[in-house]
Amino acid sequence: MNERETHPGAGSDRLVGFTIPGCHARGRVVRFGPVLDRILAAHDYPAPIQQLLAEALVLTALMGGLLKGEGSQLTMQAQSKGGVVELLVCDYRDGELRGYAQHDPGRLADLGEGPSLAALFGEGHLALTFDLAATDQRYQGIVPLEGGSLSAAVEVYFAQSEQVPTLIRTAVDAGGQRNVGGGLLVQHLADGEEGRERLHTRADHPEWEHVAILAHSTKPDELVDADLPLEGLVWRLFHEEPEVRVQASVPLSRGCRCSTVHFEEVLARFPKEDRRDMRDEKGIILVDCAFCSREFAIQD
Ligand SMILES: [Zn+2]
Repeated sequence: MNERETHPGAGSDRLVGFTIPGCHARGRVVRFGPVLDRILAAHDYPAPIQQLLAEALVLTALMGGLLKGEGSQLTMQAQSKGGVVELLVCDYRDGELRGYAQHDPGRLADLGEGPSLAALFGEGHLALTFDLAATDQRYQGIVPLEGGSLSAAVEVYFAQSEQVPTLIRTAVDAGGQRNVGGGLLVQHLADGEEGRERLHTRADHPEWEHVAILAHSTKPDELVDADLPLEGLVWRLFHEEPEVRVQASVPLSRGCRCSTVHFEEVLARFPKEDRRDMRDEKGIILVDCAFCSREFAIQD
């Protein structure tokens, strides 16, 4: 099911890419509004899980926005062994996002307000999977869920797995009156946007230090302010650079790829006896999509 919607806040539910050629840097800025409402509304999440999932969706959009080519997909999966949050999955494809989280409500309540990442996940890990449509390539990186936030864990992924100096800022306000989220990602690619081989990328390169200092000045309020166009935010941060190239913005939407055909295929992989246990007297198996909570009646 795909939903494309228009909305009043021109600065929301969009993704903008930019490059700073003089510093061999590239960036993405993203801001969510109504799309976040829609994704979070699929389940009755308590506020801390809404906050966590909102941050994960911002990160998924920032990283998904780095992909080239129609049909490429970024999947972010956080998993724990025995943690309060068992599983968190988000994915991005062509501006469409979806995500959900599974947690233990009783144990979450015991954690109180504003639980730390360690309290939520225990010994968890973060897996990032990049599916590139043009070359049919898939690559995956896995890092421990350490640091103070999901954003920090993603920064570690880029530093360790890709050796790309990366700065990420996110701000979310979810689970209360409104759901808003925004983020900024900036990277130093010594060879520019193209190619995965880099000649002299290092974390203390003067070009990168310069860009990182400017990006550091981003304020959380700016990231979630729907009245501040994303292009305006890029200008605020980097207007003293000789050249900043801003790409056309990408509209973001909630998009789930669940369908009757999809679940028929999934069920076909189960043994006959298992399917017999699942179906009702009419031979119907009811399946819920974990992402959007839509229910499908599959005739077995
Ligand atoms: Zn779905």
